[in-house]
This record gives sequence, structure tokens and C-alpha cells, in this order.
Amino acid sequence: MQSQQFEDILRSVPLMSPEQVGVLHKTLPPAANSAKPDAHDESRLLERLKFYFDQHPLCVRCRSTHINRWGTKDGHQRYYCKDCGKTFNAMSGTPLSHLRVREKLDQYVECMNGETTLRPAARQCGVSLDTSFHMRHRLMALVENDSYGQLSGIAEEDETFFHESHKGDRKLQNPRKRGARSQRKSRNTKTEKKASVPLIPVMVACDRNHHVIDAVLKKVSTEELQSQLEGQILAGSTLCFDAHLAHEHLAEKLSLTAKTLVSSSGERVKEGIYHIQTVNAYHSELKRWINGFFKGVATKYLQRYLGWKRYLKTHTFSIEGFLDQTVFHHTN
Ligand SMILES: [Zn+2]
Repeated sequence: MQSQQFEDILRSVPLMSPEQVGVLHKTLPPAANSAKPDAHDESRLLERLKFYFDQHPLCVRCRSTHINRWGTKDGHQRYYCKDCGKTFNAMSGTPLSHLRVREKLDQYVECMNGETTLRPAARQCGVSLDTSFHMRHRLMALVENDSYGQLSGIAEEDETFFHESHKGDRKLQNPRKRGARSQRKSRNTKTEKKASVPLIPVMVACDRNHHVIDAVLKKVSTEELQSQLEGQILAGSTLCFDAHLAHEHLAEKLSLTAKTLVSSSGERVKEGIYHIQTVNAYHSELKRWINGFFKGVATKYLQRYLGWKRYLKTHTFSIEGFLDQTVFHHTN
């Protein structure tokens, strides 16, 4: 290639949209993709995030685009906002800011396939259990609030319930080591105890094109469901749900056609196509994953796990895909 042509390409890079930069990035040969320009930057995820951010830097405090570069610190380019004076780097304000073990980050992304619990992930990456926990949560937080399009056509909505959990909360755990006798006693009263634990409602709505919306609710009410689903389902779509007082006015408020199923009297399908079996299958899988595979998660992290599951259910998991998703999330 002539040097003039090459210079033209270089000049056009800052004018590209993040999507175009992504396409360009993918066309680069693997050797160029995995090049490590700086000894500090061992993570492809961080490298990619920084690369995109540098094309369109945005103030983390006031969202201004009047930004100057402002030297480097710890191997990261810093930026200065000409409007509010804030200095920051590409990771500021994201779950990846101040990440200590960043050389393990890419390796940890491999454990985000939804099939690896904390201990095996810690062993696989050679990190402590605490670090494994923090890395998982930072990566989960990256996709937690992503949405993948409105529901349309035939949509289904239903709630399921999880027992309130304070898992991992050291302050609430009994510091005394319990003997075998008290453990036996505890097993006997387990069912009784479980019955008294508050239930946390989780709403899931989905359509037949694998779009999913979910939320942890305070209670099942028309108002709460409406606030979660407002603008999330294309007007004119059909919403299928189980007969429940909270659902009655929901479809009307969202300008949707309602199809009510009376599951309590065995009604499973209406007019051959309207049912809530897709959403109920999603619930079953969610419960197996959270209660069975992870042996429960703390209620305060429930929404985060819902987001991770939503990501896994709507994408074919791959390292590259995860890197792209997390980057687009923070540069758009
Ligand atoms: Zn600013």
C-alpha cells in the first residue's frame, strides 16, 4: 500500500463510529490483536475498552465531549474534561475501575460461561476465592443492565419467587461452630425455617424471539410491573399471562392485547398459540441455576445474576463476544 493511502486510513480512524472501529478491529490479524503495546496492559478486555474510549472520550462526571488527553498513570491514558475539570481514564465510573489483578481478567472471562462456580474459577485462574468473587461481580456488573431490544409479537409475563438470602454476609452468620447434634436438630426444623423466610418476587417477560426482560420486584403489583415493562414491549403486541389481579390492567396500560390463562384450572394453551410456557421454562432454568448450581445467591445480588443469565440466554457465549459486549456497553 502506498504511504498516502495508509495515512488516509489513519486519518479516518478518529471519525469512525464505535461499531465501525469494532469491524476494523476484527479485520486485524490475530498477531496485531494480541500485541501488548505496554507492559502494564496485560488484558485484552481493558485494551479494547481503552481503544474504543480513546476514539470518543466522554467525561465520566458531566458527559462532556470536550476532552484533552492528560498524561498516563499506571499504564492507563488519562483524560481531562475542559468543562468540569475532572480527570479520569477509560475505566473510571465502570465496574472495572481500580482493578488490581488485571492480568487475570481475560482468563476470568472464560469462567463467565455460567458453568463455573467460584472455587473452580479461582483454581483455574490461580487467584484467591475473594478475588474470584470480586472478578465475577465486576464482570457480571458489566452486562447487568444491558437490554437486547423490545419484546414484540407474542410476549409472555410471569413471576417466580426466591427465598430471601443473606448468603456471604459474615455479620449474620453464627460464629459458633455447631456440633453434630445441633446440625441434626437443624435438619429437622429446616422445612419450618424455610417456610418463614420471606419470598422475593422475580418478574420475567419474554417473547418468542429470545428477547428477555427481568426484574426483582418489591411486590407483585400492576404499578411495579408497569414501571418495569413500560416501553419494553412494542405497542400492539400480545401479552400472555396467568390470571392474577396485578395482571388484569397491565396489558391495557401498556397498550397490548391481553391473553389470560387460568393455570389454576389447568388451562395451558389458548387458541393453539397463546401460553406462558416459554417464560415458565425460563423460570425453571433460572431456579435450577441459582438454587441448584450456585446453591443460592444473596438477595442483594439477585438482579445481577438475572442480568448474567439474560446475557447467557440471549448470546452464544464466547470470550470475544463477551469482550465486545462489555466494550459497547460502556462506549455507547
Ligand atoms: Zn466533565
